[in-house]
Amino acid sequence: MRDYLIAGNWKMNKTPSEAKELVKEILPLVKDSTTKVAVAPSFVAIPAVAELVKGTNVILAAQNMADDEEGAFTGETSVLMLKDLGVEMVILGHSERRSIYKESNETINKKVKLALKHDLTVDLCIGETLEEREAGKAEAVCFEQLEKGLAGVSEAELANIVIAYEPVWAIGTGKTASPEDAEAVHKACRGKLAEMYSAAAADKIIIQYGGSVKPANVKELMAMENIDGGLIGGASLTADSFAALVNFN
Ligand code: PGA
Repeated sequence: MRDYLIAGNWKMNKTPSEAKELVKEILPLVKDSTTKVAVAPSFVAIPAVAELVKGTNVILAAQNMADDEEGAFTGETSVLMLKDLGVEMVILGHSERRSIYKESNETINKKVKLALKHDLTVDLCIGETLEEREAGKAEAVCFEQLEKGLAGVSEAELANIVIAYEPVWAIGTGKTASPEDAEAVHKACRGKLAEMYSAAAADKIIIQYGGSVKPANVKELMAMENIDGGLIGGASLTADSFAALVNFN
């Protein structure tokens, strides 16, 4: 059986002081959870959050990282800096990085390989836009993002990969994919991973759903056979709603 992983992506919300307060509230509410739990604060809030989550069941994640280890890259944050702060996981290829910051599958792949080289777990986000869905291309887009994002990643390394299927039209819009629609894509992606690697490897990989997940819809989504958790934006910003998601079962 696969574990569930509920991860909070705080995006560009919470100052370091606010992040500390939020984590202090979250920790006691999720400490007995059977679900794996992660939080991804902004870079500047990571040091404060790292102190608080050390030795707890909460995994510390980053929202992005640079595609090089060090050098003249003004404004960037490297994998070495994240590792030094105790970061264990990194979200890569989020649709906001792809669309607003024009990250290509090739750039994302470079980051994926760099993160794996440094033993970070990668939460690789994939997902189609509304236009692509309406054109019947949802699965094809996800397959391409999987193929290109995971190019050169071995089957052994796949153990450190989590996939987050996030239909772009469902992110922050209040529109959730129906559990059946989400399940169809999750199942197809697992099939694609079986083709790329093996049935055994595909069976083990956590595939999260993301896009307007909230306490009111989490149970029906998680009940689907191929949905193994959630990447949560808006509903991860208050301790009560995040804890309700983490403790859904
Ligand atoms: P949302 O964001 O839960 O606010 O829709 C999800 C995400 O972008 O990871």
